[in-house]
Amino acid sequence: MLASFLRERDDALGNGSHLSHSRINRYLLCPEQYRLYYLEKLRPTVPPAALVFGQIVHQALAALVAQKVDPVRHFHDSWGMLKGVPLDFNQRESWEKLSASGEGLLAKFASEEFPKLSHIESVERPFTLKITSLDSPFVGVIDLVAEVEGKRTVADWKTAGSAFDEHEAAMSDQLTAYKLSEPAAEQLALCVLVKTKEPQILWHLTDRTGDRLVEYLNKVGYVAREIAAGRFYKRPGLWCAWCDFLPVCLGDKRKAGETLVTVP
Ligand code: SF4
Repeated sequence: MLASFLRERDDALGNGSHLSHSRINRYLLCPEQYRLYYLEKLRPTVPPAALVFGQIVHQALAALVAQKVDPVRHFHDSWGMLKGVPLDFNQRESWEKLSASGEGLLAKFASEEFPKLSHIESVERPFTLKITSLDSPFVGVIDLVAEVEGKRTVADWKTAGSAFDEHEAAMSDQLTAYKLSEPAAEQLALCVLVKTKEPQILWHLTDRTGDRLVEYLNKVGYVAREIAAGRFYKRPGLWCAWCDFLPVCLGDKRKAGETLVTVP
């Protein structure tokens, strides 16, 4: 079961030579991290609890919106199966705290946010774009296409430890990629489920102009050419502190052997 949480959702769609928001984003953060993740196929032996939690919340939201399944029960059953399973919790997290947080957030979403949705067109919908300027298909998964308070909206669900800043939706490359797939959408949204003691759900609405789409496609093309040319290099920064591959970059073979595993 845990193996499925180690795979990015859009990665399950392509044949390995595809492009996606996740791939471009990881390359831009650190090309060496991209190489270790996608080419060496290294993954943490113990998955991050926040990642697993986020995916289970996603699944519960999808079950609610697509099939009207009780999301709290859905989450409770899935998260319950992981009690006692090794997960990498940060200092502020525990299985119990995330359990309470997930149930609180999903109950709030079901009672306060779900009624705002109408004309639900799709949930967790995969897309593949063949763009003439790119040699490989660009794939992704759109969480939700529906009317939000009367406007046709393409939305991405996020779980986060703190509220997003207002600029994040406006700057999100993921929402730009969604807009490429759904050009007729009236607006784009990040729906952020914040894991604070008192559950918060915040919608951040935005849109994209044609110029922004062209700008993003130019960036994707640039990164795709770098990847195809095999240009991978370390890009050290603050993010190394939470990078799974730090033992590899430090040459610590013993720790790398203990904390990383190669996936098929
Ligand atoms: S530790 Fe830093 S330099 Fe090494 S792969 Fe991770 S992000 Fe890149």
